[in-house]
Formats: sequence, C-alpha cells, structure tokens
Amino acid sequence: TIGMIAIDSQGHIAGGTSTNGATHKIPGRVGDSPIPGSGAYVDRHVGGAAATGDGDVMMRFMPALVTVEGMRSGLSPHKAAELALFQIGMYYPEFMGAIVATSITGEVGAACHGFDKFPYSVANPTLQGVTVMEVLCF
Ligand code: ASP
Repeated sequence: TIGMIAIDSQGHIAGGTSTNGATHKIPGRVGDSPIPGSGAYVDRHVGGAAATGDGDVMMRFMPALVTVEGMRSGLSPHKAAELALFQIGMYYPEFMGAIVATSITGEVGAACHGFDKFPYSVANPTLQGVTVMEVLCF
C-alpha cells in the first residue's frame, strides 16, 4: 500500500491510499485501503492517518479513524498510531501493519507492529525535499 496524507498551505487536508492488495487474494477482494477509517481517514480540525499491512485484520478495527481520534484527544501522531495498532495486536498478536499520521499543524509520526522497522517519507516547507524517517516496531 502507498498511503498519503497531504495538507496544503491553507490547511486543506486529504488522505489517500493505493494498494496492490494482499498476496493470494481472492478475485474481487476490496481490502482495507479504500475504506474510510480503515485505509485512511482525515479530519480538517485534527489531522489524518493512513494504514498499511494485513487489511483483512485491519479493516475490523478502523485503525486510521482510531489514530485520528487519538490525536483529537491529545495524543501525538506517533502515540495515536501506536494506540490503534496496540488495539489490533491485543486480538491478533501476529498481525503486521503500520500507520503514518500527521496532525493538522504538521506534526508527523508513525508506528508499526509485527516486524522490525518501518520507513516513511515526510516533506514539508522546513525540510529540504523529501526526508525518510524510520520508526521501530513493537
Ligand atoms: N493493506 C493492503 C491490503 O490488505 C495491503 C498492503 O498494505 O500492502 O489490501
């Protein structure tokens, strides 16, 4: 999955995902990526999040929505993404997935579960071009 959250200079926010789907998927499988709240979610007052990983598990937990709601209640993007993945991991300890998130003010973060580390890209007016960040998984 390629997931992206974009905020323009006037504060308009958008999120999107494109996915190649899951390995060995059945014909017609939609997956989590196009489902608002699961693959991606944004709120113009809070920020946005996008998810990648085992969509058949993730789509039961709406992790992008949970991440945005976590930020609404005061968590950093990183902590909010961790919360969303933690909730999934309680039910599916073997689950592999990751979330990128940004607040509406431009604070970015990510979290991942079930593998080693997750690289993600950030571009904003203060960084020189695109910067690759990395987060360690839990
Ligand atoms: N979430 C995607 C899916 O299950 C796969 C991915 O993130 O690569 O369709």
